[in-house]
Amino acid sequence: MDLERRRFLRGAAGAVTAAAAAVAAPVNEAAAFGPREPKTLPPKAVGMLYDSTLCIGCKACVSACKQANGMPAEQPASLAAWNEGTWDAAEDISGKTLNVIRVYQNGTMAEKDREQDGYAFVKRHCLHCVDPSCISVCPVSAMRKDPVTGIVTHNPDACIGCRYCVYGCPFNVPQYQFDEPFGQISKCQFCNHLQAEGKLPACCDVCPTGASLFGLVEDLQAEAERRLAAQPGTLYEFPRGKLGGGRPGHEAPIGHYQPHLYGEKEAGGTQVRYLTGVPHEKLGLPELPDHSYAAVSEGMQHTLYKGMIAPLALFGGLVFLARRSSKTYRDEGPAHIDEEDSSS
Ligand code: SF4
Ligand code: SF4
Ligand code: SF4
Repeated sequence: MDLERRRFLRGAAGAVTAAAAAVAAPVNEAAAFGPREPKTLPPKAVGMLYDSTLCIGCKACVSACKQANGMPAEQPASLAAWNEGTWDAAEDISGKTLNVIRVYQNGTMAEKDREQDGYAFVKRHCLHCVDPSCISVCPVSAMRKDPVTGIVTHNPDACIGCRYCVYGCPFNVPQYQFDEPFGQISKCQFCNHLQAEGKLPACCDVCPTGASLFGLVEDLQAEAERRLAAQPGTLYEFPRGKLGGGRPGHEAPIGHYQPHLYGEKEAGGTQVRYLTGVPHEKLGLPELPDHSYAAVSEGMQHTLYKGMIAPLALFGGLVFLARRSSKTYRDEGPAHIDEEDSSS
């Protein structure tokens, strides 16, 4: 029986190869497995510019986010003894924390926004990708991207809890509530419920320095480029809340920025931009290619499944092998099969 099974599996492997050949043969290889067309920014895409050099680490954005989204406070067990009930000290995003401020520390930490002997703050939440992997991998369309604003939302009623989005996101954003009996996926939805009422996302609304700034992505891009082009140390009026929203600004010197505007191109582009004084990789912002993972994987899948050629070829190959094996068994008995197998 083992020999017969081995023989069948060898044949099945051959059928898979034949199926792959069948799909690859008639088309140019590059075209067959190339990525699909990348998705582009929606016309009225909204986003956030986070300027790490303006961030003072006050965590008002973390608290406001929790309040706006009905999330409980989180405290690591190590801090609970002295920290009880007074301060939200989540160390990273989780099923109960959609947004955190993390701290980079080096050496003496003498100067802010300096890589050596310095420290810096960085904000972590969903970047609302232009071509999101979380949407591509979701089998039930529980993740959706608004066609106008580009905000990526999660529908808990549609979600089946498979957690593909947790593993598919290149920024490691969606989190599962493992400690709940009926846990759900959590991620920043850019406070779309507040935006629907004409309000700002909570984190941008409360930020005292304008480090978290809301606006149209194309306007935020231009604002970021203005800051990058300005002479470090020049006094600048940094907008607060919403870009062009009319609030009094926050006057401060332009920082020593890294030249890379993070979020513009990573993983096919996002709707969040990061300006930092310390290299982004030191702040936990991952190095990613410019292309969207969703475009590559969907391009390959659509080629393989185009016209159902590959699955049908595979199915046909397996049926042929099964029929041949059963005919040999009927005509010549198991001894012949075992003999044939051991001689091969
Ligand atoms: S950052 Fe992750 S969760 Fe957010 S839109 Fe992109 S892929 Fe989805
Ligand atoms: S946009 Fe809203 S949900 Fe997202 S991080 Fe800011 S406050 Fe939290
Ligand atoms: S509210 Fe603004 S300044 Fe305070 S931690 Fe958040 S981003 Fe930084």
